[in-house]
Amino acid sequence: MRRRLLLSLPVLAPWAAAAAPAPVRAVASFSILADMVRQVGGGRVAVTSVVPPDGDAHGYQPRPADAKAAMAAGLAVVNGLGLDAWMERLTRAADFKGVLTVAAAGVTPRTVPGGTATDPHAWQDPRNAALYVRAIGEGLAAADPGSADIYRATASAYAAEILRTDAWIEAQFSAIAPSVRRIITTHDAFGYFGARYGIEFLAAQGLSTEAEPSARAIAALVAQIKREKIRAVFIENMTDPRLARMLMRETGAVLGGTVYSDALSGPKGPAATYLDMLRHNTGLFVAAMRG
Ligand SMILES: [Zn+2]
Repeated sequence: MRRRLLLSLPVLAPWAAAAAPAPVRAVASFSILADMVRQVGGGRVAVTSVVPPDGDAHGYQPRPADAKAAMAAGLAVVNGLGLDAWMERLTRAADFKGVLTVAAAGVTPRTVPGGTATDPHAWQDPRNAALYVRAIGEGLAAADPGSADIYRATASAYAAEILRTDAWIEAQFSAIAPSVRRIITTHDAFGYFGARYGIEFLAAQGLSTEAEPSARAIAALVAQIKREKIRAVFIENMTDPRLARMLMRETGAVLGGTVYSDALSGPKGPAATYLDMLRHNTGLFVAAMRG
């Protein structure tokens, strides 16, 4: 039966010839970048995210299937700034011959006040995300030159939509007194967001989820939450929720909800796209600040 089906395929050739060209295969290190590639590439691009939705990109250990996806891709998109160096190693190991785009190449990196470590979470400032999207547009243009103009135009329109969302977020927070713009999260993923909108983010864990928070850091944060009467603690979708729960127990703070920091939700969740993520997080932060 299968054989007959295969033999009948040449009859279908006239139809096949009229079909759209095979899409560009792209691989992105994590779901936020994959969504940006999807928004810019549309139906011309088939994109795979190495780290799945709700997954943690910090210190990810690639699997053999990831190397296979990289090997087949014409475009690989990484964040850079030290978040996903494993992805650059993966493309080298997989003998990747396509275009490699470092999405954050054009952003001004943030360093933690008083420290020297570079904060990789640049996408949390939408103005940086607009730069990511333009870099991805250029990457797609290089991987598929025949459609270069379309990628650039789509990237431009999507970047403009991101900047409109940025203005909307700014308006949400501008109505809130600066003294209550304080948020507790698990790891220090919202530094760019905080710098953009004048919010102080406090976290027991540093820039990466790879290092366990120290007992001293946790004790200091507990004392600060009590002293400053900070009301809400947020769980991040891609980190261990136990730390946030412990902070709530120790301080009497309530749960502000689950925010999306380093990964999107699944397609049916509240942060299926980058723009949904921004709107969802903003809504929860604003609600917590208003008490
Ligand atoms: Zn992170």
